[in-house]
Amino acid sequence: MGLESPIAVIALTAAGGKLARQIQLGLPDAQVHGLFGRVEDCDITFTDTGEALRALFRDGHAIVGICATGILIRTLITSLSDKHTEPPVIAISPDGASIVPLLGGHHGANRLARDIATLTGGIAALTTAGETIFGVALDDPPPGWTVANPARAKDVMADILFGGKPSLIIEAGEPDWLLPIPLDHDGAWMIRISDRSIKPNPNELLIHPPSLVIGVGCERNCDPDELRELVAQTLTDARLAPQSVRAVVSINVKADEPAVHAVAEGLGVPARFFNAAELEAETPRLENPSDIVFREVGAHGVSEAAALAAAGAKGKLIVTKRKSRRATCAVARGTDIDASKIGRARGHLSIVGTGPGDKAHRIPATDTAIFRAQDLVGYGPYLDLLGPSIAGKTRHDFGLGAEIDRCRHALNLARQGRDVVLVSSGDPGVFAMATLVFELLDQEPHPDWQRISIDVHPGVSAMQLAAARAGAPLGHDFCAISLSDLLTPWPTIQVRLEAAAEADFVTAFYNPRSRNRHHQIETARGIFLTHRPADTPVIIARNLAREGESVEIVPLSELQVETIDMLTVVIIGNSQSRRMALGGRNWAYTPRGYAQKNIEEPGS
Ligand code: SAH
Repeated sequence: MGLESPIAVIALTAAGGKLARQIQLGLPDAQVHGLFGRVEDCDITFTDTGEALRALFRDGHAIVGICATGILIRTLITSLSDKHTEPPVIAISPDGASIVPLLGGHHGANRLARDIATLTGGIAALTTAGETIFGVALDDPPPGWTVANPARAKDVMADILFGGKPSLIIEAGEPDWLLPIPLDHDGAWMIRISDRSIKPNPNELLIHPPSLVIGVGCERNCDPDELRELVAQTLTDARLAPQSVRAVVSINVKADEPAVHAVAEGLGVPARFFNAAELEAETPRLENPSDIVFREVGAHGVSEAAALAAAGAKGKLIVTKRKSRRATCAVARGTDIDASKIGRARGHLSIVGTGPGDKAHRIPATDTAIFRAQDLVGYGPYLDLLGPSIAGKTRHDFGLGAEIDRCRHALNLARQGRDVVLVSSGDPGVFAMATLVFELLDQEPHPDWQRISIDVHPGVSAMQLAAARAGAPLGHDFCAISLSDLLTPWPTIQVRLEAAAEADFVTAFYNPRSRNRHHQIETARGIFLTHRPADTPVIIARNLAREGESVEIVPLSELQVETIDMLTVVIIGNSQSRRMALGGRNWAYTPRGYAQKNIEEPGS
């Protein structure tokens, strides 16, 4: 269950939706999926329960269905094929009293069922043998632990159930979770806890503990393959199990180094970073301290020091620095390594737009970015619009007008290694924050701002929803002009208004009028009236997808500026745009010229 496959809590009724939200509060990894027309408050809506469940199952989402077991069984029966790779499936009664793991008991379902039972005050109805007797499942160890030969787990569990006592050999790690199992030195079966890459004996269950960290260093823009090969060869030569590696670590100036991230991704573990002072503190423990490295980065070692810093005070260097042409690596052993507690991650900033209002107009990529984020930065009321899906995340509310502060704050959080989402309304690149972030990065080049990773997700802009509500007014060439002269001098805006009017662009006005700023929209109307017919349709769209939404279509000559405020977007049609009545209401559209040409344009 990675971050890409959040737990799907499925609600089919309003009551189920409430229970789903309650469960979600305790399971930050969950998203609420609600049946269309029945469940109002959810993160994702579906219409066909069977199709939705099968798609989620196929995509590897753990499924928690607030419904009868029969619904899940009948729906998924045709999708079952490989119990080792399929996600867990759990049924919950709508009152939260019975939690039944149906599939994948030893692949997370039992654990998840117990967690949910704690949240709802219900009972987890576990039906797998080992679980119910010892609370231990040998083929479903705690996160970070891997069973090398899971097919053996059943034999060992069966032996234990019939009174057998396996022996336990610990070469690395601290397997406290195995303690409920009765053990004996002379047991017929053996459980070996080892981070070495070995072939288990026939009577042996081999379990790899989360005990290794790999420290790496490399020159700037080192070929990722070079570092990957160095690390792979190092593990092979030292006969170490890649499954025991829990983090790839380095110095913070390497936080944006592609080779480091390629190695971490290849091993399926996080990359984490230390600053020079933290690495320098490890100098007494280094096998290969180097004055040259010190002069370059401010610490006497990178790979050895990072590995040791990550493995902790009791950790040991087990492979000293190995070198390729442009890279180095070293391996340290610790106990119970939890990557999230090591140094810092490379920070991440997602710049997203929430659409004009409610979640119906928010794209799924934005939901995913919000889902994985730790911190949300934005104008308070826009964060409010995100609803319950942001419960448990740190909010950084800013007032209107504090845009630069918001962007700086988001960048500063990301450079501390946090996963941050910067929230605009509509589209983040349309008169919004995305461009400010890039301006700051361009003009204030702080090295640690430049090392974070950034992505931008588009949103539905106010102009697009206004157009959709009115019909198809943007059907031909169009432009958008902000009438705010806060950042753009009024004469520049006026030149663009003249040009747009004269060139016959359909034109959308953002920020059309504020309490103290009236003349701009009046001037704009005057300019457009000199170039377009008096009956050119104008769309006045207020509070789109929010409470009190209104969309009016009026002739240009009758445009009343009093009906317009800062939460309005105005679209003026071109000289060909038309208003029409249909189904008891008015629509507007801008023809593309099919009527004259009568031919189909490819790709339209
Ligand atoms: N990034 C936003 C625009 C921000 S500028 C977007 O892409 O939509 C702010 C202006 O956008 C407002 O003055 C108004 O003109 C328009 N706007 C934003 N949300 C709106 C909504 N829900 N209804 C109508 N206009 C809206």
